[in-house]
Amino acid sequence: MNVVFLGPPGAGKGTQAKVISVERAMPHISTGDILREAVAKGTDLGKKAKGYMDSGALVPDDLVVAMVAARLSEKDCAGGFILDGFPRTIAQAEALGKNLSGGGLALDMVVYFKVDDEQVVERLSGRRICRKCGANYHVQFMPPVVEGKCDKCGGELYQRDDDKADTIRERLQVYYRQTADLIAYYSGKGLLVEVDASQTPSDVTDAVRAVLAAER
Ligand code: ADP
Ligand code: ADP
Ligand code: ZN
Repeated sequence: MNVVFLGPPGAGKGTQAKVISVERAMPHISTGDILREAVAKGTDLGKKAKGYMDSGALVPDDLVVAMVAARLSEKDCAGGFILDGFPRTIAQAEALGKNLSGGGLALDMVVYFKVDDEQVVERLSGRRICRKCGANYHVQFMPPVVEGKCDKCGGELYQRDDDKADTIRERLQVYYRQTADLIAYYSGKGLLVEVDASQTPSDVTDAVRAVLAAER
């Protein structure tokens, strides 16, 4: 099954994708994670992307589209995938559609994580991430057992620079300016399924499981 998780930053896409990816043995492809890794490694792509990411803007479509095309051509994607954080513009969505149809494939479903702005800000400002394994926490809603330490691997938890107040506001605006149109775009293609992402993490997981299980 080829699935896109769509929704504002902080909606819980990554949290849910991690769970579903394990349950369904589908690779979780987070463009944010791939880009942050490129920045950390100082690759060409990372050098080009860094400034945009720091300011909360989108990385240019051509860079991200090429990066995703390369990832989707890897063997583990042949049996399906979860795209998290991509596409984020209509141009990216069209490039994705072309890329898939070129290989005789198509998207099966776009899961839209619906949540209001206030919750997004709360979730992003309390988000913490494990430096070692990438696990996701929230200081209030999904706290680790030991403060500042990953439950899974003991790694140090950190706050992303772009999860600070100013950049959060900018990212939300970017979402409304450039990404929210994808809701209507995919709805028009009959692919959109909405999930109430304002619930507790485990209730959201149940909701996502239910929509994926109902796929025709
Ligand atoms: P979020 O927590 O908002 O879901 P991500 O980890 O998906 O954040 O993205 C972090 C940053 O990486 C974005 O603000 C943007 O600069 C860049 N980025 C990630 N995915 C894309 C994309 N599909 N197109 C352009 N830029 C992207
Ligand atoms: P996204 O990938 O959509 O940007 P994340 O999955 O990283 O969002 O979640 C953003 C933050 O909100 C994280 O700190 C995460 O632990 C927390 N979070 C995720 N889902 C929920 C939820 N249902 N209720 C409360 N907090 C959540
Ligand atoms: Zn960890």
